[in-house]
Amino acid sequence: MQIDIITLFPGMLTGFLSESMIGRACEKGQVDIRTHNLRDWGAGKWHITDDRPFGGGAGMLIKPEPLCAAIDSVKKEESVTIYMSPDGEPLSHELAVELSGAEHLVLVSGHYEGIDQRVRDSRIDREISIGDYVLTNGTLPAAVLVDAVVRQIPGVLGAEKSLTQDSFHRNVLGFPQYTRPVEFEGMCVPEVLLSGNHGEIERWREERALEKTRERRPDLLSNKDSQNECRH
Ligand code: SAM
Repeated sequence: MQIDIITLFPGMLTGFLSESMIGRACEKGQVDIRTHNLRDWGAGKWHITDDRPFGGGAGMLIKPEPLCAAIDSVKKEESVTIYMSPDGEPLSHELAVELSGAEHLVLVSGHYEGIDQRVRDSRIDREISIGDYVLTNGTLPAAVLVDAVVRQIPGVLGAEKSLTQDSFHRNVLGFPQYTRPVEFEGMCVPEVLLSGNHGEIERWREERALEKTRERRPDLLSNKDSQNECRH
């Protein structure tokens, strides 16, 4: 998979792309992530990329010429071009899994009041929000999307099983986890996890996961299929 990220702030991605799981995936060639500074397509001596919105109002907008030129320079026939935007479709586990099957993602990060509508109309295939709140620019949302998508690529996490233990897999939240020591500040690891009985452990985990989901996210359980899958 190749991912191109167009942003005014590529420096915000330096640590993110070199550390942890994403850093390793890049090193191993499991994903090829490139960042592009939108300013490189800006006009004139000052590399201008923004202007005032027609009709007035607060703030500035990213101009269509530099942004379209940047997108066109990386876009291929198979690309999915995504604008990170608070009014886009909400990012979810299902969406991350779906996008992990794409060959090439182009992620567009906005700034100021956003981007000229004509870029959205002519170049953008999907618009994705990372939540109902507004950030100052789309670089962190692009990083969030990259992280959620790349960890779904087979082989990236190493232990494939951990994907199936994550929250939202089969529409249930994750179960509680413990490591050594067996007793910490008077709190003990549940007996069943020390029993070595894998059937019992699996059952206990499913029950805890369902219990937590009922308590915190009953909306997830309204999906009948997931309920059936989890039932023993
Ligand atoms: N005026 C825009 C609106 O009300 O929808 C908000 C613009 S925001 C200050 C600047 C940029 O940050 C957006 O163009 C977008 O790329 C990014 N952004 C902010 N919040 C986001 C979110 N929740 N999800 C995805 N992108 C977001």
